[in-house]
Amino acid sequence: MTEPTISLLERHWHHLPANEVAELLDSDLVHGLNADEVLRRRDTFGANLLTPKKGKPAWLRFLFQFHQPLIYILIASSAITAFLQEWVDSGVIFGVVLVNAVIGYIQEAKAEDAIAALARMAASATIVLRDGIKQPLPAAELVPGDVVLLAPGDKVPADLRLFRTRELMTDEASLTGESLPVAKLTVHLEKDVVLAERANMAYASTLVTSGQGTGVVVATGDTTETGRISRLIAHATDLSTPLTRKIEHFSAIMLYVILGLAVFTFVVGTWRGEAPVEMFMAAVALAVGAIPEGLPAAITITLAIGVSRMARRRAIIRKLPAVETLGGATVICSDKTGTLTENQMTVQEIYAGGETFRVSGGGYAAQGEISLDGKVVAPQGALRECLVAGVLCNDAVLVEREGRREVAGDPTEGALLVAAEKGGLVPSELHAAYARRDEVPFDSRYQYMATLHGDVVYIKGALEKILDRTSAMLDPEGRELVLDRAAIEAHAHAMASHGLRVLALARGAPEEGEALDHRHLGNLVFIGLQGMIDPPRAEAVAAVKACHAAGIAVKMITGDHAITAAAIAAQLGLGEGAPPLTGRQIAALSDAELRKAVRNTTVFARVEPEQKLRLVEALQAEGEIVAMTGDGVNDAPALKQADIGIAMGITGTEVAKEAAAMLLTDDNFASIEAAVEEGRGVFDNLVKFITWTLPTNFGEGFVILAAVVLGVTLPITPLQILWINMTTAVLLGLMLAFEPIDQDVMRRPPRHPAAPILTTALMLRILLVSAMLLGGAFGLFLWELETGESLEQARTVAVNVFVMGELFYLFNCRSMTHSPFHVGFFSNAWLWSGVGLMILLQLFFTYAPVMNRLFASAPIGLDDWARIVAVGLVIYFVIEAEKAWRRRG
Ligand code: ADP
Ligand code: MG
Repeated sequence: MTEPTISLLERHWHHLPANEVAELLDSDLVHGLNADEVLRRRDTFGANLLTPKKGKPAWLRFLFQFHQPLIYILIASSAITAFLQEWVDSGVIFGVVLVNAVIGYIQEAKAEDAIAALARMAASATIVLRDGIKQPLPAAELVPGDVVLLAPGDKVPADLRLFRTRELMTDEASLTGESLPVAKLTVHLEKDVVLAERANMAYASTLVTSGQGTGVVVATGDTTETGRISRLIAHATDLSTPLTRKIEHFSAIMLYVILGLAVFTFVVGTWRGEAPVEMFMAAVALAVGAIPEGLPAAITITLAIGVSRMARRRAIIRKLPAVETLGGATVICSDKTGTLTENQMTVQEIYAGGETFRVSGGGYAAQGEISLDGKVVAPQGALRECLVAGVLCNDAVLVEREGRREVAGDPTEGALLVAAEKGGLVPSELHAAYARRDEVPFDSRYQYMATLHGDVVYIKGALEKILDRTSAMLDPEGRELVLDRAAIEAHAHAMASHGLRVLALARGAPEEGEALDHRHLGNLVFIGLQGMIDPPRAEAVAAVKACHAAGIAVKMITGDHAITAAAIAAQLGLGEGAPPLTGRQIAALSDAELRKAVRNTTVFARVEPEQKLRLVEALQAEGEIVAMTGDGVNDAPALKQADIGIAMGITGTEVAKEAAAMLLTDDNFASIEAAVEEGRGVFDNLVKFITWTLPTNFGEGFVILAAVVLGVTLPITPLQILWINMTTAVLLGLMLAFEPIDQDVMRRPPRHPAAPILTTALMLRILLVSAMLLGGAFGLFLWELETGESLEQARTVAVNVFVMGELFYLFNCRSMTHSPFHVGFFSNAWLWSGVGLMILLQLFFTYAPVMNRLFASAPIGLDDWARIVAVGLVIYFVIEAEKAWRRRG
């Protein structure tokens, strides 16, 4: 090809005939572009990506860190202390505000990056015709002139001028706002037709809801209509979840309580005749001490860590709240084929002309034979026709990859190709000899597909659907006989009860001139059955067991036959419960009856995608928290309705992925179980952090309150309180986010999402620790003064009581129920580094002259340290005793 002379300024593609469009774009509608030409165009036009619109600038996002009521209080305190000419106090308070903003900013950016990286991982492939070969490619690699094939569930990857369509419908809501799918045709259109009515165009980022189409790329990246209106461009990631909102609400209430107490402190103190400045400082101390400032940031970062942990275990979170909901799931509804099973299909049995043939060999290698009564046979008559139908009515291709044979396409169809090869047929030769003239694509609603070759149409699909349209069958030699429906059904039943997935094959002769479609396929001749095994995934068996131990019910939902489904379910350990419920039975049930039925049924077979929505609703009406998997376009409503919609990363359509809250990169059921485990772990770590952090705040608040009420000098200054809060939150508390998951996390029943975050038992524990911190700090403070030490020394001791108390208590918080030794005493390296740093920092605080000057601290003796550590140990042992007592009780 010569240098492309194509002009992308042409915007009236809809007005031009398809061949003229192809000519203008210097493209070939039959073979697509060739590799060299693609490279050249990539240079000219760049990648098919939208330039991300800049989000809020960094400085603005940084400023937003100050936009919190608590920070307002700190800034106000800083301003007033400056006015009072307490320069050091003012400076340090302001420094803390800055540090807090920097930490918040970094954590937020990290969390957003983690989520953006996941979005890139979930990027999709599109089918492109290049060098005459259809190939899956990342959408980003498209160039103008590429020929693209659209299938149901695809996201249109670029602006396309369509030149072939088959009942193609697209959802253009994202572009035009039109909420109903619009029909696409290859008609000629006037020049002035508006965007929403250009039926012969498919626009980037719209979704294919049904049918098929082929089009040539006329615009990519920013030159697409979507790129031009740039309405869909990346908006800021929303980091809020139900839990963070609950915490914000909780903090707001606390804020008012604390402000009230601060005012109370000031009033009581001044009324007693203390200096207003002094009392103002006490009020400030109370406010800054009692508010858990690190909480929101800690929660965001814990969630973000959970998200990346899940990604490592092949579950990609698309919507952050799913991290929390996952841990509370009570039912997982899973697809069978490919999720609970390997999706490695091998034909083992063929029933044709009333005879039963065995097929040997496993996997996709062509080694194996077809035999009848132990004798190898060369296919003829009905058997041959059965193999030929399986090859022709087929979209899959066997490819060699790294010395192994794999299926490009549907494994069910790959198995049919392999079976034919074992019978000595060559699929590529058959395809060449009997070219496909027309087709009805497979759709899980109809459960069959059909293709037209010459004047014969071949159909394959679910037996019931095929038999309903059949009136004759073949004898062993391939002659037509009257249909013996009962015999065929009995045989299919026997195959299915061994766990074989059974496909029926038939042929017909459509009326001349009639379009091939669902209405016109009738009067068929039954050819035979092919039964294939699809072994359960070994990991799935273990994962099902783990779910059951965790109090989570697992339900199998499949389009496959009830008997096959039940046989596989039994192998997976899902055999108990009521017998399988079929789609037909579900359709006959009222909502109330369905609610009753879903409780004990574990296998739902021959389910149509639309029925999944009813199943989710019935389970939710029973109070369940439902996780539901799906891959097709029609699964989207169920995925949206489910508490956690899970889309398949490999076989899933774009529509399903967009509707889902989570993606599985390996389509494997075991990854769902892993994600649930991580979800529970994340929640545990959040609870641990909250239980750990609140006693500091309560304790400090009580200390100030007690001092003012008793008329004693403040045992800790506002500055010192800020020091304690900032250092312990970062060096100690945050390390809890790295805690390994509790061993027994999957042996507990699911947490109810409406249950309060802190149980009464935990609230009591928090108060107990707060009281011990109050007692320790206040007691040692008074004791130091009593024994003639300086005020600075006494305060330094009080500060160290808080830090050491929280340090020892951190080990209690590593598990809510067990001792830290049970968890593995050294299993969290982060925590130990944090503890080490914290101790060094505290020595610095106590002994460094600069710190003595800044924070009014003073060196203390070894005996003081002994008493401080003793308080820490008392807290540790009291809480361990309390935990042990609860374990028994
Ligand atoms: P599942 O994935 O849950 O097994 P599907 O909806 O994919 O269910 O398939 C339902 C039924 O449709 C299968 O049992 C089979 O009879 C038929 N079927 C599946 N794949 C194909 C195909 N590629 N061509 C024709 N029929 C198919
Ligand atoms: Mg399937």
